[in-house]
Amino acid sequence: MRLLVTGGAGYVGSVTVEALIEGGHEVMVIDDLRTGHRQAVHPGAAFVQADVADEAAVRAALRHQPCDALLHFAALSLVDASMRDPHGYFQNNVGGTLALLRAVTAEGVHRVVFSSTAALYGTPERTPIPEGATLSPENVYGETKLQIERALQWLARTTGLASVALRYFNAAGASGERGEDHRPESHLIPIVLDVVRGVRPEVLIFGDDYPTPDGTAVRDYIHVLDLADAHRRALEVLEAGQAKAYNLGNGAGSSVAEVISTVQQVTGREVPTRVAPRRAGDSPVLVADASLARSELGWQPRRPELGEIVEDAWRWRQAHPHGYGA
Ligand code: UDP
Repeated sequence: MRLLVTGGAGYVGSVTVEALIEGGHEVMVIDDLRTGHRQAVHPGAAFVQADVADEAAVRAALRHQPCDALLHFAALSLVDASMRDPHGYFQNNVGGTLALLRAVTAEGVHRVVFSSTAALYGTPERTPIPEGATLSPENVYGETKLQIERALQWLARTTGLASVALRYFNAAGASGERGEDHRPESHLIPIVLDVVRGVRPEVLIFGDDYPTPDGTAVRDYIHVLDLADAHRRALEVLEAGQAKAYNLGNGAGSSVAEVISTVQQVTGREVPTRVAPRRAGDSPVLVADASLARSELGWQPRRPELGEIVEDAWRWRQAHPHGYGA
């Protein structure tokens, strides 16, 4: 297929573009490089530097290179930052996405794969979480993604737009070529690896009084290559008039303390830690029930072990000590 990928210079987007090109798809990336890296974009993809909210630029790109479907990764995606900059998050993630959807549909693109999140579920009533669980985000980031999922449902009903929302749990790991390089970094695994490398003095553990076995927050870490594979499969189940949603996780939770000890095992080095207050908007436990993705997408995570996920992240970091930059 001919695919338009927004956020193809970002972490999950760039790894997915790599997988799509290897799978024989033709890809055009739109990214404003606000947080992404030009070097992360696969050389086989066409690249347009633009904001997804710039309808004229998106339409011009599509007239130049028509596409069959949109994969929309570009977003602000930090829980904590979203609580401090709600206006920016609503403007970018909701306003920007609505403008993008208007632009692509005007150019004849009626199929969309949307990057959504486990943050939709807030503090879930039970775990692992199925897609049918109550959607009640506890942070602005999750709310922005929920608002777009709702818009996609209405657009399916009113205009026939075909969409799949993929609700990522915690993306982690790397491909051989592409990995995680956020500036500043706020995600747990790259931060712990920075401490191992001596770039940071210690890991702050955000809360050790959660109602979990060791008191630290539990997340479902999913290999970024497994996420990429789910996008490829999602393209095959897009159906006119249908807005579908799938959880993407391993169904296994790891606490912050367990992640730190796994990094110590993988790297063979000590990791100093300090307990700090909880981070605003964080849920105690987020673990996926991804059985729907397994049955309907035929998706099966190939790298479910946390040790393997950390090994791949570590390998990429050692090969790219400065990430994508000098
Ligand atoms: N976390 C932590 N210290 C850090 C970064 C993250 O304790 O320096 C915790 C965070 O509070 C959450 C988990 O690690 O419980 C995963 O956070 P991350 O930012 O990687 O992903 P999120 O779950 O927010 O998408």
